[in-house]
Amino acid sequence: MKSHLKIESRQLNILFDSLKDLGYTIVGPTVREGSIVYDNIDSASGLPVGWTDEQSAAAYKLKRRGDNSYFGYNLSPYSWKRFLFPPRVKLFSAAKKGKSFKINSDSGNASVPIMSLPNYAFIGVRPCEIQAIKIQDKVFNNWQYIDTVYKNRKEKVFIVAVNCTQAGGTCFCVSMNSGPKADNGFDIALTEVIDKGGHYFIVEAGSEKGNELMSKIPHTVAGQSEIENANRLVQTTARQMNKSMDTKDIKELLYANLESRHWDDVATRCLTCANCTMVCPTCFCTTVEDVTDLTGENAERWKRWDSCFTMDFARVFGGNFRSSSRARYRQWMTHKLASWIDQFGTSGCVGCGRCITWCPVGIDITEEIEKIKEKGGKGEYFNHKDTKVTKEIKKD
Ligand code: SF4
Ligand code: SF4
Repeated sequence: MKSHLKIESRQLNILFDSLKDLGYTIVGPTVREGSIVYDNIDSASGLPVGWTDEQSAAAYKLKRRGDNSYFGYNLSPYSWKRFLFPPRVKLFSAAKKGKSFKINSDSGNASVPIMSLPNYAFIGVRPCEIQAIKIQDKVFNNWQYIDTVYKNRKEKVFIVAVNCTQAGGTCFCVSMNSGPKADNGFDIALTEVIDKGGHYFIVEAGSEKGNELMSKIPHTVAGQSEIENANRLVQTTARQMNKSMDTKDIKELLYANLESRHWDDVATRCLTCANCTMVCPTCFCTTVEDVTDLTGENAERWKRWDSCFTMDFARVFGGNFRSSSRARYRQWMTHKLASWIDQFGTSGCVGCGRCITWCPVGIDITEEIEKIKEKGGKGEYFNHKDTKVTKEIKKD
């Protein structure tokens, strides 16, 4: 069992200073242009002190909390994937040399030596986001394929998790088994408590690096009542969550409904804007672009985020195999909640709710799955051993 330590809120800056002394570049939540984003911060005063967010389908608003909570918001539109899986990565560059060309040795992020990559310390990683990082580990660093940009960054990262003490209006992590408390996948995990006993954090170390950091920060062993106060906040958060997704037989359900008329219904609402994929902490589609300068002497190849909602994503010689919005929404949801399980042994959804908040027309993945479920059907698909599986999907 992990021991529970306690640090006073006024000592939070010592945590920042200790991370910096260990050579980390600190990234954490901060208020910018009406939202909470993840960016470089230097001290606890850069955190969204006293701010919270209200989220619902297609709506996000910051407001004051009336206390000095450091982590009293729900979730940023940003996710940590932009630091581990950057939106743009230069793969290589080339320069014209006579009638030939030369690949430059500056060769971009893909081959940057691990020593020169930033040592990130992520502060404020929510439990659902830890689950999203674990999912991206399976995508980018698996038994078959390794993305060196991701792997090299991930190996160096220090994770300060912060357990959730309030549920956002679009969260459904409880039903996805990914929150509101982190059990592992962090170096240290904090639970922020403000009560008549003061303003403090209950801390659990989850790694040797976490223990090393805690040895540098003044702390006490948390008392039983303080641990219970922290646990109560997390339990209340779980009860507050009014969205959920029923994941039982979800893969079979979606495979059984590839031709459902419900996709036409979604298509009348979906703008195929790709917002949901940009904010999703697990979506990982990319494309490759070649660019040249005006002289044509120098060229670069870049990998950048793409989305299964863009027209070009499914354009191949001979046409586009996913030209309708019906097909694109179906692809996104069926991959996220069904074929992802076949590919990576896990759902691609952690219940963070970002795709609901940031969809401009408020399409709610939990409601869409319920509507598909109402129809029921017969699931026939091939499993990873190429064996045909047939399963009746019963209506509840
Ligand atoms: S579901 Fe919403 S966010 Fe996603 S592509 Fe459609 S309109 Fe955009
Ligand atoms: S699909 Fe939506 S709720 Fe699920 S992880 Fe992605 S953004 Fe979060």
